[in-house]
Amino acid sequence: DDRIISAEPAPGEAYDRALRPQTLAEFVGQEQARGNLKVFIDAARARSEALDHVLLFGPPGLGKTTLAQIVARELGVGFRATSGPILAKAGDLAAILTNLEPRDVLFIDEIHRLNPQVEEILYPAMEDHVLDLIIGEGPSARSVRIDLAPFTLVGATTRAGLLATPLRDRFGIPLRLEFYTPEELTRVVMGAARKMGAPITEEGALEIAARARGTPRVAGRLLRRVRDFASAEGAATIGKLEAARALARLEVDEAGLDSLDRRFLRALIENYGGGPVGMDTLAAAIAEARDAVEDVIEPFLLQQGFIQRTPRGRMACARAYSHLGLTEPPRAPQ
Ligand code: ADP
Repeated sequence: DDRIISAEPAPGEAYDRALRPQTLAEFVGQEQARGNLKVFIDAARARSEALDHVLLFGPPGLGKTTLAQIVARELGVGFRATSGPILAKAGDLAAILTNLEPRDVLFIDEIHRLNPQVEEILYPAMEDHVLDLIIGEGPSARSVRIDLAPFTLVGATTRAGLLATPLRDRFGIPLRLEFYTPEELTRVVMGAARKMGAPITEEGALEIAARARGTPRVAGRLLRRVRDFASAEGAATIGKLEAARALARLEVDEAGLDSLDRRFLRALIENYGGGPVGMDTLAAAIAEARDAVEDVIEPFLLQQGFIQRTPRGRMACARAYSHLGLTEPPRAPQ
């Protein structure tokens, strides 16, 4: 998808990598996850043991991949990355596992999308560091057991609830990543601008941060576009004014909502009387995939109090009406 505020990485966003913080200390925000990780990393290092398996969950663009890389660097071990959909066969995962050095970090993004055969060989690998493989077919088939080096699996998923319980239970360190505050994102924007060599004032950074829907990836992307507008205008520094003007042209409003968010809210209010209405119906109404709506649009609108979840479906909150300049109809008592 090509939304400017999309939290998914766009193809070719190579700068993403250059802007990545390299150490826990450089990683902005997520105090709780960061604090816990530091304790467990220090302990694993002191004992020269592999760190326990880590599950990172939270909406896209909040820093799961970045944190996984930092974990490996802080442990002083190797880093391998793959993703659920890429691991088509059990053999694909077996090849990676047998090549790990002791205490290496294996990062599996979108771990909720593993196919069941792959998941099955992952369990004994995580638990006992062994690989149980079936060699051959039919009556001559036999199973062989291969010992693996102890390793740390870092799994990432958008919602912990997407994982099968037996898989979820095998992670000793589950960490939820939260949306960032505007102050934290201001620091992310200032840091990224410094690395890009783009002069920006703190007010300019805050203007971007406030509209980046709590997400560093969105903040980085907005910064790049704002910088383009600023240089087209011949501005040497990105100030509050330059930032606000550019963001208005990008149709990202003061709340950080873009046209897709606003379409979602409008559909909810204008087609379904503000709800409650089911997610499938709503996603169809704006012609988007349900998954995308649930991962990228809904969490932020929920967190910001534009919508709420009820057992009978999604409902618009007062803030949604006022944001769109609509009047909330009186509701019958529930
Ligand atoms: P995820 O894996 O959760 O989708 P990423 O780790 O790929 O997110 O992060 C997306 C972008 O945001 C990267 O460019 C990364 O550098 C930046 N980023 C994420 N978290 C932070 C942070 N805490 N501080 C600074 N930059 C961050």
